[in-house]
Amino acid sequence: MTNASVRLFDAARVQAPYLPSIRSAMAAVLDSSRYILGPAVAQFEQEFAAYCGTGFAIGVGNGSDALELALRAVDVGSGSRVITVANAGGYASTAISACGAQPVYAEIDDQRLLLDPDAVAPLLQMRPQALILTHLYGQMAAVGTIAELCAEHGVALIEDCAQAHGAEREGRRAGSFGAIGCFSFYPTKNLGAIGDGGALVTSDAVIARRLLALRQYGWSSKYRVELAHGRNSRLDELQAAILSAKLPGLDTDNARRREIARRYGASIRHRDLQLPEGRGGSDDVAHLYVIRCARREALRAHLSAHGIDSDVHYPIPDHRQPAWEQPLSLPISEQAARKVLSLPCHPALSDEEVQRVVDALNCFA
Ligand SMILES: *Cc1c(COP(=O)(O)O)cnc(C)c1O
Repeated sequence: MTNASVRLFDAARVQAPYLPSIRSAMAAVLDSSRYILGPAVAQFEQEFAAYCGTGFAIGVGNGSDALELALRAVDVGSGSRVITVANAGGYASTAISACGAQPVYAEIDDQRLLLDPDAVAPLLQMRPQALILTHLYGQMAAVGTIAELCAEHGVALIEDCAQAHGAEREGRRAGSFGAIGCFSFYPTKNLGAIGDGGALVTSDAVIARRLLALRQYGWSSKYRVELAHGRNSRLDELQAAILSAKLPGLDTDNARRREIARRYGASIRHRDLQLPEGRGGSDDVAHLYVIRCARREALRAHLSAHGIDSDVHYPIPDHRQPAWEQPLSLPISEQAARKVLSLPCHPALSDEEVQRVVDALNCFA
């Protein structure tokens, strides 16, 4: 047994196979002297749209901006209501409040901790403008059912795919079901830049045009401001070149993540640990492997003593955050916040490290 700790995410090791192509991509941008919305952004946008199976991809500054611009593109503004979940880290709520809109929280299902379609139906009476569906931990949510509900009620469906790059169901990728799919390329995501980055995907040409304007001052053409609420949120040319270098490896990295998730599912045996169900299929890209334990702090200390990192995604449900407090009861979301614990699950983990995590969990007293 080595003494090096098993890290939750290990940027150096995950990046290592890509370093030569990242270095040459960076050098090419430097040599091109095109730094803003140049050929590298255009190329990545084309490649990423093709990968997702959508007509368009629009690069932006980060995943949070992607969510906010998506809401603006479907006319969410002051007084609008937007349905979302309360257990997904608050990114959707941040974007909703930035638009002056109201989040309407729906409960999650207890098996996968994803938006429960049965909880959505009654909320549609509140005439929401949009619904943000988060494919949490890499698991694709019930997007088919929810897309139908949204279509019936004229609600714009926005998929938050920041944890689900490459997840697919019936041959369709995450991000291609809704009106818009939002991605983050934060370094720890399944497709990660070496800084901030984000993108939106859509097959609607009108929405694509609005997003292109919104990411750059609201311009329809240079110095002509067509849309209010525009801003400067562009994907950086260097990050785009790096993402193009890394995109060809995404499916292989996702396959390794799935394999680790399946191994955890098959090998962790402990009556106090609740394992997630149905992990490691093609509609799951295993961004995070999240177990539940009522004695979470003791478990974290035990893992730490065995040199294993863990983290909590996420400890405070949105409706209990000081900024967004709502007197609302969401028992499954609240209980999940008290019990969830993320284990190391990244593509550079060795089989031996995965086994160390399993052994440490199985001997938790
Ligand atoms: C990371 C993340 C975001 C935000 O992305 P940034 O690039 O950090 O702004 C949004 N939603 C989810 C589900 C995320 O995991």
